[in-house]
Amino acid sequence: MKNAANEIGLESRTDQIKQFALGAGANVVGVADPRAWEEHTPEGHRPYDILPGARSVVVVGARGPTAGAWRSPNHRLMEVNGYDFRNDAAIHCVADAIEREYDHQAIQAPGLPTGGHLPPMSMMLAAVLAGLGTRSLAANIILNPKYGLLYYSACITTLELEFDHMLEQEVCPHPMCVKSFRLFGKTPCMAACPVEEGGCLDGSIDEQGRIESSYYDRERCVSRAMNFGINSFQKALAQIVAEEDQEAQQNMIHSDFFSRSCSAITHYKESVAQCFECMRVCPIGRAERKLK
Ligand code: SF4
Ligand code: SF4
Repeated sequence: MKNAANEIGLESRTDQIKQFALGAGANVVGVADPRAWEEHTPEGHRPYDILPGARSVVVVGARGPTAGAWRSPNHRLMEVNGYDFRNDAAIHCVADAIEREYDHQAIQAPGLPTGGHLPPMSMMLAAVLAGLGTRSLAANIILNPKYGLLYYSACITTLELEFDHMLEQEVCPHPMCVKSFRLFGKTPCMAACPVEEGGCLDGSIDEQGRIESSYYDRERCVSRAMNFGINSFQKALAQIVAEEDQEAQQNMIHSDFFSRSCSAITHYKESVAQCFECMRVCPIGRAERKLK
């Protein structure tokens, strides 16, 4: 099986891997050249620093909330449906298949920090370099032209594959957003989270209808969109341990806040992010959500 898989041409082999990724739960898949990182990242953060001899980076994108979840009038449901990890599951399957069927090494690209707060590799950059999307005015989220918001994972491999090109056309801003900016000075995402009213987004669009400048208050966004996770667990735990009144301590342990923090760190239910409002108003990918 391994030899047969290796004997086929580059194009067919790439196609096989892509079909496999789609079958494993990805909505989109692309392949990037590991050397493309040289232009964007310092040494130590390139694919071949993570897997010596890396020849390709397979990147998958998977939808988070379903069309029905976007439609629900209860916005909080999207916080607790555990949408975030199907991209990770799909990329694990791809890495396994490459090692099993093609006899080449593969490793899931580290999108989370191994120390400090920065991950060794940016999944946003991987998605852009694999031609799956471009940066947007909404929190720099990489928007895919068909699906809009996607979650990305990557796999670095020594297997040679055919590379995709970066998208030539920027996905954001949508023509409707350009119109809105010309009329009101805001795009829908900026209007949903305006920096001058305690929100996180601002920016401008040039004469050609392209992003001219963008502003994203990451700290503020994190405090609103990521209330539950490692940070909230650590904060709550420190307060609980320091509490001397036993009854108050019990109440803190069983509080909604601590329960959701535990839920988040155990990946039990809580989604990685708890705010989707800038994406809710974004027209990119809306057609995909229009089901019967
Ligand atoms: S995720 Fe929420 S808080 Fe963050 S930029 Fe979007 S709307 Fe604002
Ligand atoms: S609403 Fe979407 S397409 Fe429009 S500017 Fe914001 S991120 Fe870009």
